[in-house]
Amino acid sequence: MDVDRYRVRPGVSVNLAEFDPNEKTLFDGGKDEGKTAIKTLNLRLEALQELLYAENRHKMLIVLQGMDTSGKDGVIRHVFDGVNPQGVKVAGFKVPTPLELAHDYLWRVHPHTPGRGEIVIFNRSHYEDVLVVRVHGLVSKEVWERRYDHITAFEKLLADEGTTILKFFLHISKEEQKQRLQARLDTPDKQWKFSTGDLAERKLWDDYMAAYEAVLSRTSTDYAPWYIVPSDRKWYRNLVISHAIINSLEGLQMRYPEAEAGLETVVID
Ligand code: AMP
Ligand code: MG
Repeated sequence: MDVDRYRVRPGVSVNLAEFDPNEKTLFDGGKDEGKTAIKTLNLRLEALQELLYAENRHKMLIVLQGMDTSGKDGVIRHVFDGVNPQGVKVAGFKVPTPLELAHDYLWRVHPHTPGRGEIVIFNRSHYEDVLVVRVHGLVSKEVWERRYDHITAFEKLLADEGTTILKFFLHISKEEQKQRLQARLDTPDKQWKFSTGDLAERKLWDDYMAAYEAVLSRTSTDYAPWYIVPSDRKWYRNLVISHAIINSLEGLQMRYPEAEAGLETVVID
């Protein structure tokens, strides 16, 4: 699956209305075939992650962003199903604490970036500081406006120091969000996920889309590309992200470390 079609070319001005959240262009089959395909990909990812860990050279950062219900948690559960938890960490970014707010907005982010041999998934990220913060005017325009440059510089630093960065925008339609929020409301086991605050954010849908368009247009780079992932179909969303991660890991040309010399003569008694 050549998911490169979903990568945002640096410098391109993104208009989200031109991207269909419900398409499944790269996959001929339907939901059942898609779910089966994911299982095979899980095994490949498991092997690649083990190699990354064994080689202990590369670092991978995966950023997940999207509106409420877009499936950030679902991606973590399904795409990484079966992968050894020892080599994968998840960092979630919520409303900043007073201590975090007393610092610059990247202060809380940097300690969670991956070390050698690690994959780290950001469930929300430093991008909230030009998304929710911009939409709600939590800082002045002058302040958020300069953050795009900070962010690309920060990601360049991480990339220069050996981090492979992949960023996914989970693109859902407003109608699909309505159905998913309704499902949360109607299903007792899902009600804990429902917050009336989500409805307030939903009212600001158009403002969020504009803020996302700015992010996608201004911060997709060769060293830290954004992918716009059609996400109305959960299984297709998972397939696209899984392929993007696997392609990227395969491109690293990793190898298991050299074994100690003379192992063939070792006798264990
Ligand atoms: P959830 O992902 O549902 O657990 O919600 C986390 C909430 O934290 C979301 O409403 C985010 O918009 C909010 N959040 C995350 N980072 C920031 C930030 N830097 N400033 C303000 N709110 C944030
Ligand atoms: Mg939420």
